[in-house]
Amino acid sequence: MKPDLFEAPDYYNIDDLLSEEHKLVRDAARDWVKRDVSPIIEDAAQKAEFPKSIIGGLAEIGAFGPYIPEEYGGAGLDQISYGLIMQEIERGDSGVRSTASVQSSLVMYPIWKYGTEEQRQKYLPKLASGEWMGSFGLTEPDHGSNPGGMTTNFKDMGDHYLLNGAKLWISNSPFCNVAVVWAKNEEGRIHGLIVERGMEGFSTPETHNKWSLRASATGELIFQDVKVPKENLLPNKSGLGAPLGCLDSARYGIAWGAIGAAMDCYDTALRYSKERIQFGKPIGAFQLQQKKLAEMITEITKAQLLAFRLGQLKNEDRATSAQISMAKRNNVDMAIKIAREARQMLGGMGITGEYPIMRHMMNLESVITYEGTHDIHLLITGLDITGFNAFK
Ligand SMILES: Cc1cc2nc3c(=O)[nH]c(=O)nc-3n(C[C@H](O)[C@H](O)[C@H](O)COP(=O)(O)OP(=O)(O)OC[C@H]3O[C@@H](n4cnc5c(N)ncnc54)[C@H](O)[C@@H]3O)c2cc1C
Repeated sequence: MKPDLFEAPDYYNIDDLLSEEHKLVRDAARDWVKRDVSPIIEDAAQKAEFPKSIIGGLAEIGAFGPYIPEEYGGAGLDQISYGLIMQEIERGDSGVRSTASVQSSLVMYPIWKYGTEEQRQKYLPKLASGEWMGSFGLTEPDHGSNPGGMTTNFKDMGDHYLLNGAKLWISNSPFCNVAVVWAKNEEGRIHGLIVERGMEGFSTPETHNKWSLRASATGELIFQDVKVPKENLLPNKSGLGAPLGCLDSARYGIAWGAIGAAMDCYDTALRYSKERIQFGKPIGAFQLQQKKLAEMITEITKAQLLAFRLGQLKNEDRATSAQISMAKRNNVDMAIKIAREARQMLGGMGITGEYPIMRHMMNLESVITYEGTHDIHLLITGLDITGFNAFK
């Protein structure tokens, strides 16, 4: 891959809205991505391997639990810092951002919010340092967009729970030490359980042959009569709202992350357009290429403003799930369209691993599907503004 010459666009001086802390956190993440992610990520994606060597670096830049209090090992930052870290990581690769999102919002968040003090003390510091990695099991083979239909279940056996079922499409599953698993009790109520690697009957086969998020490991979680200690149940929230609360936090991070992927594609295409000569001129001097670039920077700027305002609302604990859906849907769609346009601007070179664009484009096909598909987020907005549920 070519050297990482990334320069972040900031067309509306959004930096002026950031605090010194925001900028410090963002710049540390940006420098780390340039130094430790960009040089290895193309190779990892080509080999379809999660680069475990970056786990320590992710922990150091505060990507594991950015907003989790410091007493539990988190970085104790606000929501805008969290968003900026996700933006910078996804500028490097959506798969790396996925690993961080899962660890922070889907594993640490439920333990912090729904867990006991003992669970917080036991798991959060190890997850924040990257000593332990986590996964989040909601999706099942027959229940994706409709997780409430899940069949994974547990029975109360007196001194433990007996867990049975299977989860599919689980990020980090092949190497996770712990999994936060959503399952129904005998009354059909959804609860979160912490399952640890090594528990008998628990296995995590890897899913191969992905053309997207190749630098992120994805797999299954299979439970065959797994004895889960009673103290591993997350007691403070149950029902579908519990996993959806985690998804709100992760989707918010994705709304920022997608901007990073879009910025990288735009920046690469802009630089290429000034260097690539055809018909005696740089291709950036042709109106058609300028239209693409002008539309890209317009859409990136709109997405930045949407994410920033959402961050303010999150900081005030006022962001609604529907507002988060709108930002996730808009910003990922924006990024995937920019990746496709940028890819064309590089002509044949655009399909190679010499440039990051094709990798971003393929990654974003997962990002537009996971954490609620593009269609599902539209239905959430539709329900919010009309009051009519068009899901069923
Ligand atoms: C790489 C990757 C990593 C993932 N990581 C995780 C993870 O860590 N943990 C986890 O739990 N899950 C994870 N997922 C799963 C992801 O969240 C699901 O793939 C997603 O929710 C969609 O579910 P599905 O694939 O079963 O699609 P389906 O639900 O079968 O949807 C298929 C199509 O039907 C549409 N559709 C569904 N219902 C409706 C409706 N009511 N009205 C209109 N259209 C509808 C959808 O929009 C979609 O286009 C991951 C997925 C991928 C690809």
